[in-house]
Amino acid sequence: MTDTLDLSSHSLLAISKESLAALRASLVRDFGGNAATYLHEAGYGGAGPIYDAFAKWLSAKGGPAPAELALDDFAAAVGEFFAASGWGTMGFSVGEGGVAMVESSNWAESADGAASQLPCYFTSGILTDFFGRITDAPLSVLETECRSLGHQRCKFLIGAPERLQQVYEQLYGAG
Ligand SMILES: [Zn+2]
Repeated sequence: MTDTLDLSSHSLLAISKESLAALRASLVRDFGGNAATYLHEAGYGGAGPIYDAFAKWLSAKGGPAPAELALDDFAAAVGEFFAASGWGTMGFSVGEGGVAMVESSNWAESADGAASQLPCYFTSGILTDFFGRITDAPLSVLETECRSLGHQRCKFLIGAPERLQQVYEQLYGAG
């Protein structure tokens, strides 16, 4: 049974996945590739209250501050929290060179499937700020697989900007 969140006490509100899909579709229709910027900015700008809600949710369950959790406990907690928020199941792990990975096979932002051909920029914005608050250092997020691009899952890499730049160059070439 999934946990639930008290939205109104956390500066959160419920919208439907269909609203997010409609917003994505209209932005990409009118602004093409620039839709990415708007969605990323919106996700990033609103991530603070999501992080605060996570911290309060943890504390209500008797847990410590997010940054004090051991890695395995953090991975479980952050997955439970986003699932309770309706985003979908989230796997979190930290790999080589301190690059973290978030992956999901049913993430809400890509629920429109390959129709939009638009990666999860709103989510990337959220994750950039959300995880940056835990590491207390600037982070970059790179979505390397997305259901909206026809992949089986969404996969986000999260790490220091210069480290992710290297990953990007390895994956897509320097120029
Ligand atoms: Zn995606």
